[in-house]
Amino acid sequence: MNGRRVKHDIITTEEQLAEYVTLTDAEKEGIRKCRPIMPMKITRHYAGLLDRDNPDDPLRKLAIPSVEELVRYPDDEAVDMHRDEAKYQPVEGIIHRYPGKVLLMYTTACFAHCRFCFRSEKVASTLDGRRLDKAIGYLRKNESIRDVIFTGGDPMYGNPDRLEHALYEVRCIPHVEIIRITTRAPIFAPEIFTDELIRMLSWFKPLVMITSFIHPRELSDEVCSVLDRLSDAGIVLLQQGPITQGHQRRCGHPENAVRKAGSAPHYALLRDLGHRFSWQPPLHARRRKRTQADKAAGKHHLRLLHSASQHPRSEQ
Ligand code: SF4
Repeated sequence: MNGRRVKHDIITTEEQLAEYVTLTDAEKEGIRKCRPIMPMKITRHYAGLLDRDNPDDPLRKLAIPSVEELVRYPDDEAVDMHRDEAKYQPVEGIIHRYPGKVLLMYTTACFAHCRFCFRSEKVASTLDGRRLDKAIGYLRKNESIRDVIFTGGDPMYGNPDRLEHALYEVRCIPHVEIIRITTRAPIFAPEIFTDELIRMLSWFKPLVMITSFIHPRELSDEVCSVLDRLSDAGIVLLQQGPITQGHQRRCGHPENAVRKAGSAPHYALLRDLGHRFSWQPPLHARRRKRTQADKAAGKHHLRLLHSASQHPRSEQ
């Protein structure tokens, strides 16, 4: 992709955010106190969706740090499903917990910091060339691996040339059938989805993009247009989001809006993710999870065709 480097327009300070919202004292305190752990990071597109005058706005709660994030509970370790990830890391950047399927932790950096995120204490870094090669080497050697999930962080963050390289290498592995990218990039930075970027992604079909909408208002016109264009390019869109509390309760869940925008509800993540203040009471959450699973059941089939041969590098 012509060595293009992308510079993201990110809000990290109180002063920058004040252009979009009238901050409360509690929000200012949250921004200040959470800085050492997970600093505020919001894209200008997302900041434009925030309600300037309503401190209870769910999108504000998703984006603006809160001191509640700093509360620790005695059983934090016991309920942390992710603390043992290291056990499943055969090489850096790979998590191989389930048969046939691996997570490729492509980067831990994101366009913005979602305040519920369970990866909040990871340092932002991207696999450099040598470590990425090692991780891809592991995928090549393990013929049982059918499904590679690019995750992070946000794999769409950063230099698209590097992502193209990684997708190419993985797509050329004969036993890998499905590549998925989990991302909130369409939500945070719809402007990065140029025709060139979408064309690049479409070379690697069958490619699944897992969107992660939390709230219906995240489906702005710009975002819906990106989903349309991705879908037109043959990229399968699936929605997988956490069930959170306080962000969705007042305005409903995003499934209907997401389905209308072309991303099929796939599954919802319950309770084990993120800061405790964002968890929903289990009964309510389970009920919703079941409803969502029913709606999604049987609606989606992945088409398994390799198309790396369409990539220009194959002709070199
Ligand atoms: S939820 Fe995803 S996009 Fe948001 S901060 Fe966590 S890893 Fe990044």
